[in-house]
Amino acid sequence: MVTAYVGIGANLGDPTHTVRSAIAALQGLTDTRLSASSSLFASAPVDAGGSDFVNAVARIDTTLEAETLLLELQRIEQAFGRERPFRNAPRTLDLDLLLYGQAEILSSRLEVPHPRMTGRAFVLKPLLELDAMIHIPGKGHAQDFLASVEDQRIHAIDCAQASALHSD
Ligand code: AMP
Repeated sequence: MVTAYVGIGANLGDPTHTVRSAIAALQGLTDTRLSASSSLFASAPVDAGGSDFVNAVARIDTTLEAETLLLELQRIEQAFGRERPFRNAPRTLDLDLLLYGQAEILSSRLEVPHPRMTGRAFVLKPLLELDAMIHIPGKGHAQDFLASVEDQRIHAIDCAQASALHSD
């Protein structure tokens, strides 16, 4: 069983509803248990167009291999009707595999830890809400990257969603 973290982002349609539904979809993944989800955050687009994003991070325990998990995340994205007319286009739903246990993975399809996670407030803030001491393999403590993203506009919009679903 591996503990993994998934970044969730949406900025088309009803992004708050989309992010909540995505968390529910993660809960339904085979061989996987959702153990916690962060507050929902609103963030200004980084390297992308359109209106504000809604973001969250989910923590899961899974026996899926990392590449299988990525395929499952992409299947969920497609189920939400994601269209990708151009790079960094506004998206219905974006799911990123941020961390997969302590693994460092570099293949043609997958890079873990996610290569851009340390430069994104919309990843670091919800991730640190779930685990303030979390360590990013090969990079260091997530906390130490916060100062470098403090100019990025982000605020929590739905703290009621913050929940630790299971403690065992
Ligand atoms: P994006 O448009 O940012 O969602 O990127 C999707 C592409 O990034 C796919 O082709 C994935 O195979 C690749 N990718 C590499 N590493 C990751 C990761 N850690 N999480 C999600 N997608 C990844």
